[in-house]
Amino acid sequence: MNSDEIDIYKELKKYFGFSQFKGLQEKVISSIIAGSNTFVIMPTGGGKSLCYQLPALIKEGTAIVVSPLIALMKNQVDAIRSLSSENGIAHVLNSSLTKTEINQVKKDISSGLTKLLYVAPESLTKEEYVAFLKSVPISFVAIDEAHCISEWGHDFRPEYRNLRHIIRQLGDVPIIGLTATATPKVQEDILKNLDMTNANTFKASFNRPNLFYEVRPKTKNVEADIIRFIKQNKGKSGIIYCLSRKKVEAIADVLKVNGISAVPYHAGLDAKTRARHQDMFLMEDVDVVVATIAFGMGIDKPDVRFVIHHDIPKSLESYYQETGRAGRDGGEGHCIAYYSYKDVEKLEKFMSGKPVAEQEIGFALLQEVVAYAETSMSRRKFLLHYFGEDFDGETGEGADMDDNVRNPKTKVEAKEQVIQ
Ligand code: ADP
Ligand code: MG
Repeated sequence: MNSDEIDIYKELKKYFGFSQFKGLQEKVISSIIAGSNTFVIMPTGGGKSLCYQLPALIKEGTAIVVSPLIALMKNQVDAIRSLSSENGIAHVLNSSLTKTEINQVKKDISSGLTKLLYVAPESLTKEEYVAFLKSVPISFVAIDEAHCISEWGHDFRPEYRNLRHIIRQLGDVPIIGLTATATPKVQEDILKNLDMTNANTFKASFNRPNLFYEVRPKTKNVEADIIRFIKQNKGKSGIIYCLSRKKVEAIADVLKVNGISAVPYHAGLDAKTRARHQDMFLMEDVDVVVATIAFGMGIDKPDVRFVIHHDIPKSLESYYQETGRAGRDGGEGHCIAYYSYKDVEKLEKFMSGKPVAEQEIGFALLQEVVAYAETSMSRRKFLLHYFGEDFDGETGEGADMDDNVRNPKTKVEAKEQVIQ
């Protein structure tokens, strides 16, 4: 098929029912259809999946989609199947399949029915699968969550590092890398590792103009301060992140005692309780969820009005992801981080048991968080700069939406804070 002849708007409507592309989608899709290596950096919720799904449905052959989470792959396969009358249009290939199921997948791919094949990176290392995939037409390989390649990313997975080697065996197929991780260091790692420094790169802005960023000193009154804030924002939904499960439980209890409807969420609770607490939050049976970072992946509640970090996050990446859960609907989203240097030392101690290389990266990432907490410049500018984005502090969207810009610290105030 000649790429000039394809009306991608028509295809978008036909498969997904949308009339418009979001942000950079159209450009990305044209690049993929043209068969170029393509690199996509878009914040979570930006619509990265469609960037490879639509070209996969349009192009000849099967697109391989590498994704780190089995649950996410299953969701996507179900979603694609619902767009078509053919179940075989999308498949997952993994170790949990029976021999019969694997044969069905192979048959559907060979007959040209399957447009999207989702695989976990560890499955793609299996000789048997690689041998088969070599024998069928592959339209391209999409690597979702491509930051897993980088040790500087928040979710490093060693298996991702072998992908380039395996893809090479499939012949000259284009590669599409996608990530929501915006730091220049991680991006460089991804491009180098996939050997595609020549890729067409599309980077969306990471600015979230409706989020208000604030850092408060963490004193012994932190709990009272949080309670006061929540009471001033009665009836609004919010998330409070803590470092430890113990802290999560303690804060949830304190909130409840003070008449605030709150539930705890952490990996120490059994799956049923976790699901129940998450549903209670989504259904607005409770206002507040107090959680470790185990909470939030894939949570799509549009009207979260505040995200409070009782303890500082491990990196600015995580901070951006976690605060990003506020104000998805474009409405108000207040992000408060409580900061004390003692917490930094605690985190450093935490990391000291880890291998040296990991420690070094961990410390460096943490130092950026410290710099963010201690800066007197625009926090938005600081965050976006960290993501390699130049933000105009005068005229940029949301320029006045942080504590430093609203109330520049005078020397006297700074002194008072130390004495307290
Ligand atoms: P990401 O992977 O970047 O976090 P997703 O691919 O999960 O984002 O998409 C986020 C949401 O945006 C999904 O609900 C998806 O259906 C929606 N979406 C994607 N593209 C469009 C579009 N062109 N028009 C409307 N909604 C879209
Ligand atoms: Mg995604």
